[in-house]
Amino acid sequence: MERTFLMIKPDAVQRNLIGQVVSRLEQKGLKLVAAKLYQANEDLAKEHYAEHVEKPFFNKLVSFITSGPVFAMVVEGNNVVEVTRTIVGETNPAKAAPGTIRGDYGIDLGRNIIHGSDSNESAEREIGLWFDKSELNNYKLNNENWVY
Ligand code: ADP
Ligand code: MG
Repeated sequence: MERTFLMIKPDAVQRNLIGQVVSRLEQKGLKLVAAKLYQANEDLAKEHYAEHVEKPFFNKLVSFITSGPVFAMVVEGNNVVEVTRTIVGETNPAKAAPGTIRGDYGIDLGRNIIHGSDSNESAEREIGLWFDKSELNNYKLNNENWVY
């Protein structure tokens, strides 16, 4: 079973959208393996977004992500990276399809509600950055056999 890293960004935390976003993930049949409300420091934010270090928006992105707590999660399910990227929607919320998280809750490119890892390699890297192994819960959901 695959795992991915998802993070509800400070804009959505401030707008009290954590419950609605998590609810969508649960309804889809995904399993929460870890979750925490956490304010990242600059080092963590820079490391998380290292691939964008040369981009003109990098500094703004880092200061936004560290501006308040995020809701960081590890989520498990079949093909979960692809499934969650689809549920999250495209990067610009103004263009993201209705029915996706970004399409339904956002309008500004910089404030796009949620982050989701874009590959299994990124997922592994990001889970390791944000969570200690001891924070990952290995357990079985009662309804798992009804989802798959
Ligand atoms: P995604 O989050 O969909 O994987 P990227 O990895 O391309 O998107 O970008 C990381 C984050 O940086 C985006 O979620 C968005 O918040 C921000 N971002 C991307 N492009 C821009 C841009 N042109 N201007 C401002 N912020 C941007
Ligand atoms: Mg990305």
